[in-house]
Amino acid sequence: MKKTDYLIVGCGLFGSVLAERITSILKKKVIILEKRDHIAGNIYSHIDPYTGIEYHKYGTHIFHTSHDIVWNYINQFTSFNSYRHQSLAEYKNKIYQLPINLETINSFFNKNYNPDEAKKFITKITKKYRNEKNYNFESKALSQIGKDLYEAFIKNYTKKQWGKDPVDLPGTIFNRLPLRFNYDETYQKNSRWSGVPEEGYTNFVKKLLDNKKIEVKLNKNFDLKNNTYNVKYFTIYTGPLDKLFGYQHGKLDWRSLKFEKKVVNTEDFQGNSVINYPELKYKFTRIHEPKHLHPERNYFKNNKTIIIKEYPKKDNKEPYYPINDLQNRQKQKKYSVTARKVNNFLFGGRLANYAYYDMDMTILAALTLFKKIKKITT
Ligand SMILES: Cc1cc2nc3c(=O)[nH]c(=O)nc-3n(C[C@H](O)[C@H](O)[C@H](O)COP(=O)(O)OP(=O)(O)OC[C@H]3O[C@@H](n4cnc5c(N)ncnc54)[C@H](O)[C@@H]3O)c2cc1C
Repeated sequence: MKKTDYLIVGCGLFGSVLAERITSILKKKVIILEKRDHIAGNIYSHIDPYTGIEYHKYGTHIFHTSHDIVWNYINQFTSFNSYRHQSLAEYKNKIYQLPINLETINSFFNKNYNPDEAKKFITKITKKYRNEKNYNFESKALSQIGKDLYEAFIKNYTKKQWGKDPVDLPGTIFNRLPLRFNYDETYQKNSRWSGVPEEGYTNFVKKLLDNKKIEVKLNKNFDLKNNTYNVKYFTIYTGPLDKLFGYQHGKLDWRSLKFEKKVVNTEDFQGNSVINYPELKYKFTRIHEPKHLHPERNYFKNNKTIIIKEYPKKDNKEPYYPINDLQNRQKQKKYSVTARKVNNFLFGGRLANYAYYDMDMTILAALTLFKKIKKITT
C-alpha cells in the first residue's frame, strides 16, 4: 500500500484546516477519511435545487470572531458578506428582540423605560429571588430577569432544548445569556468581525482542500482496528472518542436536532433568518429562513423561500450539543487518557473533545494543534 504522511479522520472544519496547514506548510501528503457523503462536516452548505437558495444542512451558521489569527487565516480562503445576525422570539403571537434588551423589556411590559428606569424595574422584580446560595438554572434566571420574562422566553425553550426541567440544570448555563439595558440587539456583540462566507461554507472548505497533496475519501467510516493505512507520522482523529474505543467507559450523551425543510411560495416568510419559538405548544424551537443570510445575492427576486424547522431530540447517533454534566465530563476524561496511549495518534475538534466550539474556536484549536505537529515532525 502507498505510504501517506498523515491520515485525518473527519472532513469537518477542524480536519480541513489541519489538512491545509500540513500540505501547504509542511509539504506533506494527507488522506482524509469522511464517513458522510460530503465534505465540510457540520458547516456544510448546499444549494436547494428547486429554489436555488443556499442553506446550512446542520443549522444556521454565522461566523464571528475577535481573534486576529483566525480572521487573517480564514480571509485567505473566503471573503465575508455584510450579514449581521439578529435574534427574535415569538411569544403569544408577538415578535420580541433577543437577547433581552431595553426594547424587549418595554415591549413586553408595555412601558417606555429609559435604561435607569429599566434597571430599577428589573432590580425590583428580581429582589425576592436573589437570596439563594446554590443557584440552579431556574433560580439563577429568576434572580436576573424575574418570573415573567423567564417564563415567556427561557423556561420552556430550555425544557425543549435540553429535554430537562430547568431546575435540574446548573446555574452556570444561565450566566451565558446576556441582559441589556440599552437598545443593542446585536447578537455577536463582542466579536470584531462577523458574516457568512460570500461563496458559502462548502466552497470555503473546498478552497481549504484545494491542494494536490490532499486526497479526500468520502463514505469511509474509520475505526482503529481497520487502520490499515500506511501512515508515516500521525493519524488525527476528529470523531467521538467513545465510539472509537467501543464505549469502554460508557456512552457520552449528546443532544441532537432534527431539521424539517419546506419550500414556501412567498418572497419572505418571516423577515429574519431565525426566529425562536419558546412556547411548549410548538414542538420545534426555531424556524430558519436561509434566504436572509445572503443579502448580497438576488434571492428576494425569487417568489419562493425555504423554511427549516428545528426540533431538539435526545440522540447519540447525530451528536450536536455535549451534555456538560459531571458524569459526562468524567467519561470524556477517561477517553482522553485512553486516546493518549495510542501510538502516533492525535485527536481534536468538537466531537473528539466533547465540547461546543464556535467555528473560530475550532480554527484556533486546529492551528494550535498544527504548531504541535510541526514541532514534533520537523
Ligand atoms: C446547531 C449548531 C449551530 C451552530 N452555529 C454556529 C454559528 O452560528 N457560529 C459558529 O461559529 N459556530 C456554530 N456552530 C459550531 C460549528 O458547527 C463547529 O465549530 C464546527 O462544525 C466544528 O467542526 P469540527 O470539524 O470539529 O466537527 P464536525 O463538523 O462535526 O466534523 C467532524 C467530521 O468527522 C466525521 N467523522 C466522525 N467520525 C468519523 C469516523 N469514524 N470516520 C470518518 N469520519 C468521521 C463527521 O462525519 C464529521 O464530518 C454550531 C453548532 C451547532 C451544533
